[in-house]
Amino acid sequence: IERKEYRPLTEATAITYLQKLGYFKNELCECIEIGDGNLNLVFKVKPVGSEKGLIIKQALPYAKVVGESWPLTLKRATIESNATKIYNELIPLHAPKILEHDEDQAVTVMEDLSHLQILRKGFIEKKSYPFLAEHIGEFLAKSLFFTSDFGTSPAKKKELEYLFNNPDLCDITENLVYTDPFFNSETNSFEEDLTDEIQELWNDADLQIEVAKLKLDFLSKKEALLHGDLHTGSIFVSETETKIIDPEFAFVGPIGFDLGQIQANLLFQLFSRTELKDEIIEHILNIEKVFNETFIQLWEEHSVRPFNQKALINEKLEGYWVDAIGVIGCELIRRSIGLAHVEDIDSLEHNQKIKAKKKVLKFGVYCIKNRFTIRNIGNLLNGLE
Ligand code: ADP
Ligand code: MG
Ligand code: MG
Ligand code: MG
Repeated sequence: IERKEYRPLTEATAITYLQKLGYFKNELCECIEIGDGNLNLVFKVKPVGSEKGLIIKQALPYAKVVGESWPLTLKRATIESNATKIYNELIPLHAPKILEHDEDQAVTVMEDLSHLQILRKGFIEKKSYPFLAEHIGEFLAKSLFFTSDFGTSPAKKKELEYLFNNPDLCDITENLVYTDPFFNSETNSFEEDLTDEIQELWNDADLQIEVAKLKLDFLSKKEALLHGDLHTGSIFVSETETKIIDPEFAFVGPIGFDLGQIQANLLFQLFSRTELKDEIIEHILNIEKVFNETFIQLWEEHSVRPFNQKALINEKLEGYWVDAIGVIGCELIRRSIGLAHVEDIDSLEHNQKIKAKKKVLKFGVYCIKNRFTIRNIGNLLNGLE
C-alpha cells in the first residue's frame, strides 16, 4: 500500500478529499471548519443548498489549544475510529456511523450529526432531555460490560488492551486530572480570588494521599474499554436522540472513570444554575440506576463461572461507584482550577463564578476523601444540600 505524507486539510482540500473517495462527486460543495474542541480539525462538507453533509475529523500532530509546542500522536485518530466502530457494534443508536478512516492522514469521515446539539450547550440554553439518563446509562453499561472480563474472553480483552494502547492521551489525563491541579503547576489556571482555597487544597496531606491512590487506580486497573473523555461536550443530543462522540482518549482502564466523569460534568450544571435543578438531579440518579440495572441484566445473561456469583457482581458495582465518586472529586477540582475549564461555570458573572467554584472545590475534596462512606450517587447528592 502506498503511504501518503500527512498533510492537514483545509476547507478547500477537504472537499476534494471526499470527492476523490467518491462522495458528492459531481456536486458543487461547500465546507466549513466547525471544530470547537482543543485537539483536532473538524470539517463539515455538504452539497450547496442541502442541510446534511459529511463530517471529516482530522487529528493535528499537536494540541490545537496550546500550539506546536505540545506534540501529540496522530495515532489517536485511529484509536477514536476503532472505539467508535466498537460502539457501533455494541450500541449503534448512540454512536455516529463511520464511513472512512485513513490512518496516514489521521482522518475519519463520519455521519453528520448537525441536526443534534452538544449537550453542554443545550443545558446552558435550559433545554430538556427526557431520555438522556436512559440513553447514557445504557451506553455506559453496554460499552463497559462487553469490554470487561464479565462480558468478553481473556484473549479478546488482551486484544483490546493492545489495540487501545494510548499512552499520549492517557498522559494528558494523568497530568491534568490527577497531578497538576493538586500542586502549584504552571498548567493551572484560576482566579486570584480562589488563592486561599487552593492553598488549603495543596496543603491538605490527607487529600494528597487519596488523589495519589486514585491516580494509581487510573494507571493500573484494566477493567474495561473506556471512552476516556466523557464530558457533556462529547455528547450530541436532541429530545429523542443521544450520540456519543470523540473517544480519542479510549483505553482499557477503571470503569469508575467514565462513570465519574459524566456525573461530574452533570454536577457542574447543579453548581452553576438552578432552573433545571430537579431535572439534572433526576438525570444523575437515573444514570446510576440504569447503569446498575443494565449491567446486572447483562451479567445475568452473559457471565460464566466463576464470575456468575451474585455477591461478586454486587461488590464490584459498589466498587465502581466508589471509584467514580473519587473521579467526580478530581474532575470537579481540575475543571475549576486546572488547564481546561467548563463553559457551565465560566459563563457565569465573576462573583457568581467565584462563589460556585468555592462550592465545587469544597465538594470535590469531600468526594475524594469520603468516597468509601458515600458509596453511591443517592448519598452523594444528600451531601450536597
Ligand atoms: P475534539 O476532539 O477536537 O474535541 P470533537 O470530536 O469533540 O473534537 O468535535 C468538535 C466539534 O465538532 C463538536 O463539538 C461538534 O460541534 C463538531 N462535530 C464533531 N463531530 C461531529 C459530527 N459527527 N457531526 C456534526 N458535528 C460534529
Ligand atoms: Mg472554528
Ligand atoms: Mg471534543
Ligand atoms: Mg477530543
